[in-house]
Amino acid sequence: MIPTAFDYQRATSIDDALTKLQAASGGKLIAGGHSLVPLMKLRLSEPAVLIDVARIPGLSGIKEKDGKIEIGAATTHREVAASALLKQVCPVIADTAIEIGDPQVRNRGTLGGSLAHADPSADYPAVMLALDAEIHMKSAKGWRVVKAHDFFQGLFTVNLSADEILAAVKSTPVKAAAYATLHQRASHFAIVGVAAALDVKNGAIQSARIGLTGAASHATRLTDVEKALEGKPASADSIMTAARIAGAKLEEINSDLHASAEYRRAMVQVFTERALKGALARI
Ligand SMILES: Cc1cc2nc3c(=O)[nH]c(=O)nc-3n(C[C@H](O)[C@H](O)[C@H](O)COP(=O)(O)OP(=O)(O)OC[C@H]3O[C@@H](n4cnc5c(N)ncnc54)[C@H](O)[C@@H]3O)c2cc1C
Repeated sequence: MIPTAFDYQRATSIDDALTKLQAASGGKLIAGGHSLVPLMKLRLSEPAVLIDVARIPGLSGIKEKDGKIEIGAATTHREVAASALLKQVCPVIADTAIEIGDPQVRNRGTLGGSLAHADPSADYPAVMLALDAEIHMKSAKGWRVVKAHDFFQGLFTVNLSADEILAAVKSTPVKAAAYATLHQRASHFAIVGVAAALDVKNGAIQSARIGLTGAASHATRLTDVEKALEGKPASADSIMTAARIAGAKLEEINSDLHASAEYRRAMVQVFTERALKGALARI
């Protein structure tokens, strides 16, 4: 199928994008187009106007500022994967980006587009939860910041209004974090993806944050595993024991042609253990 007819406008700044969004009835932002265009071709989305944010100066790029990593929303997966800064101070984000799709998808797809779209199998959401990242958004009313755990709310549903633009993601850099994923062979989307971040002092786990994607309607934290790890020795044994409860409390678990609910639940344990061991190896 082909999409319904639409107008195309290119925004030159964040404020210009917001003005265009307000002026257009039925307008929608587009970045890489790798999620939106397939929906338009299926006529599941029929925007009257597409407002392109991909080339807004300052909306892409990766920098360290005031002790935080800041990634512009229009930064492509390829740029994230190749970032020397991220590889040095927060390697889990770059490791995750390289897992996304194929080179064509990584060349066009953006961090902001992925988070705004919130596919239940997308990779980044798990990492944003594990890093306790902040999502920065702007509308005509001004700036708004929400933590990742308040951002992902349901199936393709996020804490972002139709009149807002996602501008950037900010996070304290964490070295001891890793992402482990069982992905679909063709698309590379996560069947189960787990990101884990550890804070270890004097050989003991002070705190852990674990984000899960692919298993349910939206990405969530595995808080029961996080609690089970607190105060435990930073060892493979502690991780193995805590990972055994991973997924047990998930009430609703996806079942589709890629994996049954039972298999996914088993894989949540396996990949939680792998992600935690990966994080531990980075200490
Ligand atoms: C073949 C294929 C394989 C893929 N494999 C994977 C994979 O393995 N893992 C994975 O995580 N993803 C995968 N994807 C999805 C890919 O990562 C998309 O690029 C991403 O989900 C959307 O980013 P985009 O920039 O293309 O967004 P777009 O398609 O342009 O937009 C998606 C949505 O986000 C909104 N949006 C975009 N930018 C903003 C912004 N700055 N502020 C507010 N709203 C905005 C749009 O209005 C739209 O609703 C795959 C896609 C394809 C086609």
